[in-house]
Amino acid sequence: MPVDYRDCDRQVWEEELAEFVPDRVFDAHCHLFWNDTMKPGADFSPRSEANLTDLQKWGDALFPGRPISFLILGMPKVGTDVDKHNARLAEQVALDPGSRANLLVTPECNVDRIREDLDRHGFIGLKPYRVFSATGDINNCRIHEFLPHEQMELANDLGCWVTMHLSRSQGCADEHNLKDLAEYTNNRYPRIKWILAHCARSFTYYPIQQAVDRLRDMPNIWYDLSAVTTLRPFITLFQKEKLERIFYGSDGIDSAFFHGKYVPFGRYWFQVYPDDAEFSMAHTDARPILCIYEQLLAMKQAAEVAQLSADDIEGIFWRNAVTALEIE
Ligand SMILES: [Zn+2]
Repeated sequence: MPVDYRDCDRQVWEEELAEFVPDRVFDAHCHLFWNDTMKPGADFSPRSEANLTDLQKWGDALFPGRPISFLILGMPKVGTDVDKHNARLAEQVALDPGSRANLLVTPECNVDRIREDLDRHGFIGLKPYRVFSATGDINNCRIHEFLPHEQMELANDLGCWVTMHLSRSQGCADEHNLKDLAEYTNNRYPRIKWILAHCARSFTYYPIQQAVDRLRDMPNIWYDLSAVTTLRPFITLFQKEKLERIFYGSDGIDSAFFHGKYVPFGRYWFQVYPDDAEFSMAHTDARPILCIYEQLLAMKQAAEVAQLSADDIEGIFWRNAVTALEIE
């Protein structure tokens, strides 16, 4: 797939971001996709075909001169042939010794099959998602409704990672989610290592503002910063969480490498695409930049407010993940 990298992106990289992004990058949240791993006749919104080489091409454009590796997550789309998708993921992750992958799982997946798949090179955990909720309610499901207890028991036995995009209206601020995470991390599944995606699904300030003091006290919680383009959740994590629990992530390709951003409106947020919005371009010849650069600008500004050191920033972009994932 072509890399849509514009002069306005290059200007922001050169003038604002190149000095901020360290020498090495580990992206702890990204996806690959192949149309032929969808079930025949599946009805799904189109996505770009993406192999590891596409992620690497984007990496070279976004972070010139920086080596980059990935934690690749199964693409959670209804209608996926899960076994076929995971088999393709295994082939792709094997191409980069520095990268790892989390298996796509749905409540229908058999635990013996998951165990076999996890034995394959490169897989270190699971990627469940709310759209597969056994209740059919994809917006208000609890964790066990899209990651059944028998799968959590397996993940606990094996000490797996789980990348968790929280469901329910208030995300990490939801009382059921907080109680479930407290019970799982402290008591029931103490060996599962949770990565709470998107700043614990805090695309706006409210959820993480409410939840950070309780999440901070739970063991085995990490965060990826993917697709959040708002300053305040980053400031909150940088000031109140243990920095080594924070991983850079992008949610690329399609969900982050577009021109636009995720805009909060109160506690609601929406993905805005200026290319399609007929915005007036009065006042300035500046143009909208890539969403991932919006995220990096917000991270940089938050790092300034929180007075992070260069070493702290290197940790977030690279060392925290490669250490915790035991890659180096
Ligand atoms: Zn994602």
